Amino acid sequence: MADDSIAVVDLDRCQPDRCSYECANYCPPNRTGKECIVTRGEHYEEDEPYDGGPDQIRISEEVCLGETCGICVEKCPFDAIEIINLPTELQEDPVHRYGENAFALYGLPVPESGAVTGILGPNGIGKTTAVRALAGEMVPNLGNYDDEATWEAVLERYRGTELQNYIERVREEKVTIARKPQYVDQIPKQFDGVTSELLAATDERGKLDEYVERLGIAPVVDQPLDTLSGGELQRVALAATLARDRDFYFLDEITPYLDIGQRVTAARLIRELAEEEDKAVLAVEHDLAILDLLADTLHIAYGEPGAYGVVTDPKSVRNGINEYLKGYLSNENMRIRPDEIQFHEHAPRETTKSAPLVDYPDLSKSYGDGEFSLDVEGGTIYQSEVLGIVGPNGIGKSTLAQMFAGSLEPDEGELDFRLDIAYKPQYIDIDQPMRVDAFLSSITEDFGTSYWKTEVANPLQLGRIMERNLDDLSGGERQRVAIAACLSEDADLYVLDEPSAHLDVEQRVQATTAIRRYAENHDATVMVIDHDIYMIDLLADRLMVFDGEPSEHGHAGTPQEMRAGMNDFLSDLDITFRRDERTQRPRINKPGSQLDSKQKRSGEYYYS
Ligand code: ADP
Ligand code: ADP
Ligand code: SF4
Repeated sequence: MADDSIAVVDLDRCQPDRCSYECANYCPPNRTGKECIVTRGEHYEEDEPYDGGPDQIRISEEVCLGETCGICVEKCPFDAIEIINLPTELQEDPVHRYGENAFALYGLPVPESGAVTGILGPNGIGKTTAVRALAGEMVPNLGNYDDEATWEAVLERYRGTELQNYIERVREEKVTIARKPQYVDQIPKQFDGVTSELLAATDERGKLDEYVERLGIAPVVDQPLDTLSGGELQRVALAATLARDRDFYFLDEITPYLDIGQRVTAARLIRELAEEEDKAVLAVEHDLAILDLLADTLHIAYGEPGAYGVVTDPKSVRNGINEYLKGYLSNENMRIRPDEIQFHEHAPRETTKSAPLVDYPDLSKSYGDGEFSLDVEGGTIYQSEVLGIVGPNGIGKSTLAQMFAGSLEPDEGELDFRLDIAYKPQYIDIDQPMRVDAFLSSITEDFGTSYWKTEVANPLQLGRIMERNLDDLSGGERQRVAIAACLSEDADLYVLDEPSAHLDVEQRVQATTAIRRYAENHDATVMVIDHDIYMIDLLADRLMVFDGEPSEHGHAGTPQEMRAGMNDFLSDLDITFRRDERTQRPRINKPGSQLDSKQKRSGEYYYS
């Protein structure tokens, strides 16, 4: 008996009519006559009464031998079972468990009036579950899923802790909540109408006009929601959430599709809401530079997505992020990852350049009667380099890619090449009712080879989602499939637009490794457009900086080495970074601070 382990059965995957109970037949306790893996008396088809046919399984955590056995996990052809030894450091009981052999949540974040509380961790780890409890939408059952859950029991558990007052207020139904959903792309499917109609209903504090102005969404308020870009929807959703007058605000990822300037503005508005209006804000964010600006305290969430999640006690933001990057939580004495995530303290030395892929001259292009014009400084792109592309949205980045591909003619300047480009767009629209494996095998003959698995599928963690349908995937899963699809094509140039969107930090690092390795091992040239400065730092060999006035005029600089490129880019944004003493992690300086002024004087915005 292993009382520190949990068994999780995914009932969407368990299909006993197709496996003849391999798990139970091989389970050692079952074979000695004990009741470890037994049936539930329920048919696996949803919405169908049990018809006496094959019946889904339940696993007794009392009898199960734990992860060291794990035979059922190996035997199940549908990956429906997880047997996990909980870390011995985890002393507490769950706050909530959805049922027998279902997901378990340990620990709750502590919302605090006047402060922004951050949560850092992977998706599927129980953040939404925690927020539903804190919003009073669900009474956590403290792991006793067979009994009726009561707030009295929850209060008893949290008496004398920082959460006691908060839970008393939830119990008295005195906590109101506003939330910004994670996937803003879904908003037009739920709300049919013009942007201003959605916004008008949210103006509970008389602040809406200010938010619309500062977030730069005034030009789109008269447009139907379904004509807005992802970046516009993200800012509309933020304005609509912050404009409410509630006690508790939950923001699930604020940065996807926003450029850096917009990210910094969003973080400032959220901080003002907490500080000036004494509101409690809880924010999940995977862009670490922005999380650092945004939050006052930080909870780390770790565990096994889909099986169990642990929310730690609050830490200082600096320590929290540092420990997370190190992969080791000191107070909890918990290793959450074998390796450290490290940043370059100095700009990478100029690498010896390989052969040029293309030389291109100065170019220009304008649309219509000059509504938007782009000037491009000529330059060289080398084989097997990763070129980072930075700059605001709407500045001409995809226009340049289209000229390289030959699908758009420049007005001035001539391109004597036409590159085969594999392109991953910013907004991924792959809502086909097709399985992931069928989709990817239609792109490359290498699909399924051990080589393709090592280079593409494994680093992007596609194993468990291969059999799912494209239209059932979450945003982060869809992103990983889209990156894999792009890298699986045969092309001269790979262009990835915002690969970080909806990936958690761990997945960003893994995607970075996959992209870099791919470039090195295939002599492939990759251009990566991204707004997460850490991702760009980890990925890029050189930088191409776009500046100008979005939607009016864009200018693309020639590709530069990292130091010069970062200085060029950040001086335009008026942002400097310092280095964390302990981890060398870049951190945004407070505007006007001593370091900020000193670095601006010496012209070193990033590698100071
Ligand atoms: P996150 O917000 O961190 O992505 P969630 O709190 O939404 O995570 O979900 C955590 C886990 O709980 C998921 O694996 C999900 O499948 C499971 N889960 C969520 N709701 C239910 C439910 N009503 N019954 C059983 N499992 C659930
Ligand atoms: P980015 O990739 O940097 O976001 P784009 O190259 O997509 O920028 O677009 C730059 C500007 O050109 C935007 O204002 C966009 O609305 C405009 N634009 C893009 N394609 C066209 C087109 N075919 N006709 C007219 N305007 C366009
Ligand atoms: Fe049985 Fe547990 Fe072993 Fe699975 S891990 S086969 S349930 S003892």
